[in-house]
Amino acid sequence: KVRVRFAPSPTGGLHLGGVRTALFNYLFAKKNNGDFILRIEDTDQTRFVAGAEEYILDCLKWCGIDADESPVKPGQYAPYRQSERKSLYRQYAEQLVMQGHAYYAFDTAEELDKNRKEIPNFQYGQVYRDGLRNSLSLPQHEVDALLDAHTPHVIRIKIPADETVSFEDMIRGRVTFDTNQVDDKVLLKADGMPTYHLAVVVDDYLMKITHAFRGEEWLPSAPVHLLLWKYLGWKDEMPKWAHLPLILKPDGHGKLSKRDGARLGFPVFALDWQGDKGYDGMGFLPEAFVNMLAMLGWNDGSGQELFSLDELVSKFSLERISKAGAKFDFEKAKWFNAEWIKRSSAESLKAQVAEVLAEKGITVADEAQLLTVINLIKDRCTLLTDFYDQSKYFFESPQEYDLNAVKPKWTAEKTAFFNDVIGLLNQTDTINAAEFEEQFKALASQQSLKPGDVMLPFRIMLVGGKFGPHVFDIAALLGKEETVNRIAAGVE
Ligand code: GLU
Repeated sequence: KVRVRFAPSPTGGLHLGGVRTALFNYLFAKKNNGDFILRIEDTDQTRFVAGAEEYILDCLKWCGIDADESPVKPGQYAPYRQSERKSLYRQYAEQLVMQGHAYYAFDTAEELDKNRKEIPNFQYGQVYRDGLRNSLSLPQHEVDALLDAHTPHVIRIKIPADETVSFEDMIRGRVTFDTNQVDDKVLLKADGMPTYHLAVVVDDYLMKITHAFRGEEWLPSAPVHLLLWKYLGWKDEMPKWAHLPLILKPDGHGKLSKRDGARLGFPVFALDWQGDKGYDGMGFLPEAFVNMLAMLGWNDGSGQELFSLDELVSKFSLERISKAGAKFDFEKAKWFNAEWIKRSSAESLKAQVAEVLAEKGITVADEAQLLTVINLIKDRCTLLTDFYDQSKYFFESPQEYDLNAVKPKWTAEKTAFFNDVIGLLNQTDTINAAEFEEQFKALASQQSLKPGDVMLPFRIMLVGGKFGPHVFDIAALLGKEETVNRIAAGVE
């Protein structure tokens, strides 16, 4: 059975790239009737950020990406938080030491810093290993004495010299590394915690992971992982990897970073994160956000751009993931949102729109009215927050009038005309949009006014500006009394 994992480290908010990695793992799993596992890789306690794990869970939930197994839904391979699996890893590190593929290193942080300062391109590895304090360079009795004295130490992998290691990437094809370029990574830290390198291999093995999609930035770590799979004797069970293309800055120059959002004026997080607005807070629908992310590096080849999550699952194919980085385009992201607002029913938008309005102090008691308003204006909204600007005049009379929009100039004839419109309305109880339009236009031509010259002023009286749906629809929804009041206020 296909089993994929999304394995974020809780070091901060999930940014676009992280969510896309989760999404592609999920799409692949579901396409193949497999399981999607969420594993929290929290072994680096120095980078741990409170609230980040919860944020990750909220984020996946918002996107509709359900995990089959996770820290909050433990399955057969629990626990799913690496810090809770701490005791599992040491035995594998020790096994590698016994087999000669790893060794103890006693160097202090100060000693290593000194080396880094004094030796250009210092790497803990085959070139410098001998001159450092470790169990490969020191005599056995010294090593024993250091261990007996509980001297703080780490376990490092011994990267072999002059070898090439390679694997078949699902997106890139064969990728080959020269071991002379790889340093002896720490596997087990002095505090007994594994590093990412050891933990990711052990857990992918123990959790029977079959495929793993991760960001391209992990490619340089692949040779270390390949060697670990081999040395631990699990080579045949190694998952197939796919390293996803980067999401690039809008100008295509380099990877989109967490800092770019503030500088370029768009969110890089899915949900709000510590004062940074996310796509959710900005007024994106999760469907649009997910759709937009899927298209960053994938397409189905037909030119279709709008896909629901279910459609993505059924259409997803590895072959159509591009090798090249995908430029991020915020305008395009907004386009996806506008399209998703258009295709969503008023019913499904109702709760979110009510929330947007409530934030501005508007509560709509009449649900039918809210649904009618949503239907009238949803094609004009790009962000959910636009529902306020596009609909506030239904709930409160305009605070300001865009008088510059009224051209040509106001005349006494127009005042007379609108007073007659009030008279006309006073003869009815309710407004029927089509009938009212007919009467309004007939009245205008009786008075030798061009309908165009009075329709715009009418709109400004009702709405305050030169926008909104059909003006007679607006009047009908406002109702007779409110329409009369606004005309009266406007004529003054
Ligand atoms: N914990 C790593 C991260 O934060 C996971 C990388 C991988 O998938 O191997 O992205």
